[in-house]
Amino acid sequence: MALYHPDIYDASRPVPSYWEQNAPLPQHRFQPLQNEQRCEVAIIGGGYTGLSAALHLARDYGIEARVLEAGHIGWGASGRNGGFCCMPATKLSIAELIRRYGVEETQHFYRAQREAIELVERLSEEEDIDYEKCGDGILEVAHKASRMRALGEDQGALKKLFGIESDLIEKKALQASYFDCAELEGGLKVHLGFGLNPIKFVAGLAQAAARRGAVIHGKSAVSGWEKVNGLHRLITPQGTLCADRVIVAVNGFIREQLNPTLDAAALPAISNIIVTRALSEDELKAHAWQNTSPAVTTKALHNYFRLLPDKRFLIGGRGDYRGSDESGKIMRSKLEARFRQLFPHWQEVPVTHFWRGLVCVTRSLLPRIGRLEDDPSVWYGFGYHGNGVCNAPWAGKMIATNLAGANRDLAGIPKVMRGLSSSFVFPGLRLWMLRAAYAYYRVKDAV
Ligand SMILES: Cc1cc2nc3c(=O)[nH]c(=O)nc-3n(C[C@H](O)[C@H](O)[C@H](O)COP(=O)(O)OP(=O)(O)OC[C@H]3O[C@@H](n4cnc5c(N)ncnc54)[C@H](O)[C@@H]3O)c2cc1C
Repeated sequence: MALYHPDIYDASRPVPSYWEQNAPLPQHRFQPLQNEQRCEVAIIGGGYTGLSAALHLARDYGIEARVLEAGHIGWGASGRNGGFCCMPATKLSIAELIRRYGVEETQHFYRAQREAIELVERLSEEEDIDYEKCGDGILEVAHKASRMRALGEDQGALKKLFGIESDLIEKKALQASYFDCAELEGGLKVHLGFGLNPIKFVAGLAQAAARRGAVIHGKSAVSGWEKVNGLHRLITPQGTLCADRVIVAVNGFIREQLNPTLDAAALPAISNIIVTRALSEDELKAHAWQNTSPAVTTKALHNYFRLLPDKRFLIGGRGDYRGSDESGKIMRSKLEARFRQLFPHWQEVPVTHFWRGLVCVTRSLLPRIGRLEDDPSVWYGFGYHGNGVCNAPWAGKMIATNLAGANRDLAGIPKVMRGLSSSFVFPGLRLWMLRAAYAYYRVKDAV
């Protein structure tokens, strides 16, 4: 049984995203697995984590890897996200991270966050990926004047502890040089991160991995997994893959039957996006729009938004515990209402696209990267807390490096995200926990 309604897992359907309709992937190159095949490393999941692992294994270590993806390549979150390449992949504040793990480990975590963003740029350069980079940092918008204090504290900590530059911007200055909207009381511009086109990036990664020698199969959902004579045997509709090692790279799209240990450690949550038609110059002026850097509000249940290169507007937000097409219609109208509330001058601007997908939260509120204790030949990377555009490729790289043996004992992976940590005590109640968390966040956001 999966956590959500079958509609959200139906990988036979295209994703109605703006990205997919405008830059389709070269799927013909990634044919389903056929017959009985053998390889060193089998990777379940054809998103950033899996493709980056395949690319690094093949390119840097000459290790034979095959990717098995249930839908088309990039069908999961990697081909349909908002394209915010930013940090951090956690719901914990800097103060909370320090309280739990100490300054040194928190610094290691933030160093990894910076490395992850730089990896996206470096991979794109090395592998010639055109990913439509836009903006020069990420803007955090204070939704209440009281949030400016916390942003000021973040600014100090980012600089002092991690050497990350940012500007605290007062309301008037923000309105004058970025944009104006409702619930805007100032902001923090972090000079790290940018926007990108997620489907171009995932397509580029897939093509690079294939060029470097990895074998990639679309339409190859793993429906059975057994271990025979020390070898993993993965069963897909048209073929079987035997491998010495397996990397599970399914993040929020995990289903219970794949691996119960990993399933119990993951809490998938739905993220929704709408995109409008291109805005005219007059419409942009109405909200004083002058910047292409992605923006996110300070709410715990935040909205994220950005102006796309062709002047369409993208806005996203969390919500829904069902995942059916019917509940999607309700989410679409809620998100549309929120869009018009934040941007009142765009009441008449039509929304052209709505889609959604699964992100992944963990009990520790940090990503989990490592190998299973009861079977160290099984590796995993998941739980990027909605910040997987850079963290997932980075996790794939770290898994590849450690698996290849160049680093031992999960070296290079900060302790705070190393291994499985703790699972949810009552996995069957995960959606109730999510409801409770959202209810708590709603109260927190209101005060
Ligand atoms: C709407 C939305 C907006 C987002 N916005 C942002 C953003 O702006 N910035 C950001 O950093 N992050 C964002 N994220 C999160 C980010 O996209 C993810 O963290 C990241 O893509 C995870 O990559 P992945 O490769 O681990 O997983 P995915 O890209 O989800 O790939 C997992 C794949 O596994 C496949 N799979 C599952 N089970 C099986 C099986 N049994 N056999 C074979 N294949 C299987 C699935 O089909 C899926 O394609 C967003 C996510 C969503 C859904």
